[in-house]
Amino acid sequence: MHAVVYHGPGQKSWDEVPDPKIVDDGDVIVRITTTTICGTDLHILKGDVPAMTPGRILGHEAVGTVTETGPGVRSVKQGDHVLLSCISACGRCRYCRERRYGQCIGGGGWIFGHLIDGVQAELARVPFADTSTYRVPEGLTDEQVLYLADILPTGYEVGVLNGQVQPGDVVAIVGAGPVGLATVLGARLYSPAAVIAIDPVPSRRAWAEKFGANVVATPEQARAEVDRLTDGLGADVAVEAVGIPTTFEQCTELIRAGGRVANVGVHGKPVTLHLESLWIKDVTITTGLVDTFSTPTLLKTVAAGQIDPTRFTTHRFPLHDAIQAYDTFARAGETNALKVMLIAEG
Ligand code: NAD
Ligand code: ZN
Repeated sequence: MHAVVYHGPGQKSWDEVPDPKIVDDGDVIVRITTTTICGTDLHILKGDVPAMTPGRILGHEAVGTVTETGPGVRSVKQGDHVLLSCISACGRCRYCRERRYGQCIGGGGWIFGHLIDGVQAELARVPFADTSTYRVPEGLTDEQVLYLADILPTGYEVGVLNGQVQPGDVVAIVGAGPVGLATVLGARLYSPAAVIAIDPVPSRRAWAEKFGANVVATPEQARAEVDRLTDGLGADVAVEAVGIPTTFEQCTELIRAGGRVANVGVHGKPVTLHLESLWIKDVTITTGLVDTFSTPTLLKTVAAGQIDPTRFTTHRFPLHDAIQAYDTFARAGETNALKVMLIAEG
């Protein structure tokens, strides 16, 4: 089979590699029908993810068809069309029993395209299939479910649910990349008074409006816009969806007393926590890695037409043109890419 193989920082290629085999009783083999590229894959290619070793297949978001099942698999069978999630769950460890699958200590968590071979491939080995795959509901297309592998549950769980978005809230979302936009979609499910999306890039602000933000602003305009929406009080919820010090600090500045700051961004540098001004404000700050416990809920929301994930797709490529797709995705500033969809032929 062929797959996108990581060869160390800055290097990847579409290589011929051996077909994956069942290793554990709970594995299945899946023929990938669609997959996509994540900002995290770009982080890996920059060398920011040391656990990722050369020779490993990239990718942690895909939909495909089960071709083979291990002897211990009960709930998935050959021919089933399944969503493969960025998070795998052993289903047995202390964290999995608390539905914190992202923290799984039984061999799951974020493993695809990180600790084991990923899913930007013609075939993939999927461990813990019973507790880590989701059957694609009848009538839904690959494209409708693909982004439930990562960005939609991330925005929903780590942004909207951790931020406890309530009806009538003013929700400030700092960063309008795919994850920020997924947070816009998730926040809208709760009838907020307003969603304000903050991003320095004009095309990203334009996407935010299309995704349902009521107000968009540059980082410099954000304070005045939030004041206008809240009579100077500040936002009820501020979601950090970038992962740099200034955006986290901006969230803690935009929040009202008693509000909630939900950090979603992956940070590589220390950030200053301004307790000298926050200590008196009753502010709640949350952090989190996505668990994907909300995937079944989000699948129902998509099936009911409440969320339309297909609007994330800006570019489509045949799976074997994955390297070209990476180039388009990495130059999002020029190509206006949000998500690129890789489609297997046949
Ligand atoms: P992205 O890089 O595509 O988008 C980031 C956006 O932030 C861009 O639109 C950029 O223009 C904007 N931005 C840059 N500087 C800004 C500033 N000063 N103010 C406001 N906006 C600014 O990334 P993404 O794929 O949307 O992911 C967002 C973050 O979420 C990343 O840090 C990613 O690693 C993280 N993430 C976290 C989890 C989790 O489980 N916690 C899961 C997936 C992704
Ligand atoms: Zn576990």
